[in-house]
Amino acid sequence: MSIEVRDLSFRYGPRQALESVSFNLVAGQLNALLGPNGAGKSTLYALLTQLYAVQSGEILIAGEPISRQPRALKRALGVVFQQSTLDLDLSVLQNLEYHGALHGLSARDVRHRAQELLERMGLDDRLSDSIRSLNGGHRRRVEIARALLHQPSILLLDEATVGLDTAARQSINQHVRDLCRSRDLTVLWATHLIEEIAPHDPVLILHQGRIHADASAEEICTAHGVPTLADAFAQITAPQEVKACS
Ligand code: ADP
Ligand code: MG
Repeated sequence: MSIEVRDLSFRYGPRQALESVSFNLVAGQLNALLGPNGAGKSTLYALLTQLYAVQSGEILIAGEPISRQPRALKRALGVVFQQSTLDLDLSVLQNLEYHGALHGLSARDVRHRAQELLERMGLDDRLSDSIRSLNGGHRRRVEIARALLHQPSILLLDEATVGLDTAARQSINQHVRDLCRSRDLTVLWATHLIEEIAPHDPVLILHQGRIHADASAEEICTAHGVPTLADAFAQITAPQEVKACS
């Protein structure tokens, strides 16, 4: 499913968080959104999920502005926010059931799908455990399973693997890539961990509220004449030299 952002700007009072941001997500692929802290990534997620109303510009899903299709949007999107939104005192299954009910799924469907998703995440033996008893990596997996429960065609992940160890990060990353291939899932993957990005991945680099690069990781390297995406990222996000007054 296509998702298109056109000339999107957003401000918190006097603070400009996004400025004329435009891009198309590549369908069925992991689209990386790379940006340092404060770049505007979470603001963009809040707009994509209609947590915030668009102030200026447009967000189109399958060619239609999101404001005109709230229900279709809810079905199309799965989202994992930067801050966990799991209820710590409820069990894994209860958290999923609650989400399923919000999406109008029957208890039977939820159980069936939860079992399948958690099995893939290696968590099917934890269904009755409280979230509190799970480690950070496992909580993230539960959040991703929950986001996929209603079978969205677009998955939005805001720094979903930050704070996890390398093994947990790699396994979640691989799982999401498998879903892109097997289910034609379109993913927007916000991160500041460059090692999560593969050479062919479409990459958006957001810095100070603006898009500074929109191409595959290798194309960005070539355009900047550097061997790695980390080098290109450092070049793009380097503080501007302050010219001395003379
Ligand atoms: P990122 O997720 O890339 O770290 P954010 O979208 O959280 O960036 O923040 C973008 C900018 O907007 C930052 O300058 C941040 O301080 C500011 N900002 C974010 N949320 C708020 C808010 N609720 N009120 C005021 N400013 C905010
Ligand atoms: Mg953020």
